[in-house]
Amino acid sequence: MKQTIPYKIYLEEQEMPKQWYNVRADMKKKPAPILNPGTLKPVALEELSKIFCTELAAQELDDTTPYFDIPGEIRDFYKMYRPSPLVRAYCLEKKLDTPAHIYYKFEGNNTSGSHKLNSAIAQAYYAKKQGLKGVTTETGAGQWGTALSMACAYLDLDCQVYMVKCSYEQKPFRREVMRTYGAQVTPSPSMNTEIGRKINAEFPGTTGSLGCAISEAVEAAVSQEGYRYVLGSVLTQVLLHQSVIGLETKAALDKYGIKADTIIGCAGGGSNLGGLISPFVGQMLRGEADYDIIAVEPASCPSLTRGVYAYDFCDTGKVCPLTKMYTLGSGFIPSANHSGGLRYHGMSSVVSELYDQGYLTARSVEQTEVFRAAQTFAKVEGILPAPESSHAIKVAIDEAMKCKETGKEKTIVFGLTGTGYFDMMAYQKFNDGEMKDYIPSEEELARSFASLPKAD
Ligand SMILES: *Cc1c(COP(=O)(O)O)cnc(C)c1O
Repeated sequence: MKQTIPYKIYLEEQEMPKQWYNVRADMKKKPAPILNPGTLKPVALEELSKIFCTELAAQELDDTTPYFDIPGEIRDFYKMYRPSPLVRAYCLEKKLDTPAHIYYKFEGNNTSGSHKLNSAIAQAYYAKKQGLKGVTTETGAGQWGTALSMACAYLDLDCQVYMVKCSYEQKPFRREVMRTYGAQVTPSPSMNTEIGRKINAEFPGTTGSLGCAISEAVEAAVSQEGYRYVLGSVLTQVLLHQSVIGLETKAALDKYGIKADTIIGCAGGGSNLGGLISPFVGQMLRGEADYDIIAVEPASCPSLTRGVYAYDFCDTGKVCPLTKMYTLGSGFIPSANHSGGLRYHGMSSVVSELYDQGYLTARSVEQTEVFRAAQTFAKVEGILPAPESSHAIKVAIDEAMKCKETGKEKTIVFGLTGTGYFDMMAYQKFNDGEMKDYIPSEEELARSFASLPKAD
């Protein structure tokens, strides 16, 4: 008998994952170790613990333990907004008139509006457990800062956010959400830190960058007693926490005996994509199943499709460990596109290594076609998607249209990472027909690659 799939597949509270999954444990060839930028030696736990909470530093370096227990307090917090639904996009399928079955995992159902809360609460929890006073971080588009300020408010931790200056000025609503949760928000580059003062002197009037805000936040953490630095993407610990997305998705599919063919996620620093695909890639690594996995990035910041696989700096100030990743070079400044969360120059070392080994493919898409897909989706599925998430929607629609041509009944699963209510300026540009597409030239990329450190 054919079982009818509901529009929304919810797991029961007791079916929520009790452990995070560390995909590195199943990788025969591991991601390359992170290096001290001065000595070029692998970073030791003790050294890393000066920047990150000790337990998070241990998670960062652990590439052999497959499962980590999710502490009870974090699971209780998760229960406020998880399990998140896996939605069968029946209305979109009908609209596209495709034989494909389309599902999306919706992570926008919390006030931060994105998946970032999954890691924010974990990082704040370990900081609290270590007896710290607070944490520092950077935020670009503002989703991470919002998620972190929510988590810190819940645990009564101080939260200092360095927000890229142009976002600070252009996104006052995000800033005020953070302040409402009690966070201290500083436009970056600021005059609070040595690196901020240096960048301000060198480039007067600069509106900042993510790499620069990271350097400021790290400096602020190490120069204050009882503070550590936290980061919302790229790191292996973040991928670990975000595996809750993939574990829930897999449990929901298994519950109805559904086998995904294609899994799609947008990729900025790689955390939602890495978290979504981890359990599925785990099966591939163990030879148990096969999937077609697609990472989608903006054509304006194409680290996987046009970057190089090399050791690079994670920040402008060059204070963070060197990471081997697909990168456009730490000096690369993407054009002012509207998917703020996808503007990072590099990619998670785990996603990079899996991509290098051929476990996933990557596509880059231009922003007007992304917004067109967002609009199509919003009209029939009701949710106004974040521009970042809409990259995944665009490719999911492309794949569904291919099924229409071939008559194949494929099952497509994609990650809908968040909502776009704070991105109305971008939607306005799109609606007014003023949105521009930007693709960096070969010369521009070559200039940026020239500044890569010699660590290989
Ligand atoms: C931050 C963000 C992303 C991109 O970050 P990843 O680490 O690549 O997942 C995607 N979607 C939303 C809504 C975000 O806030």
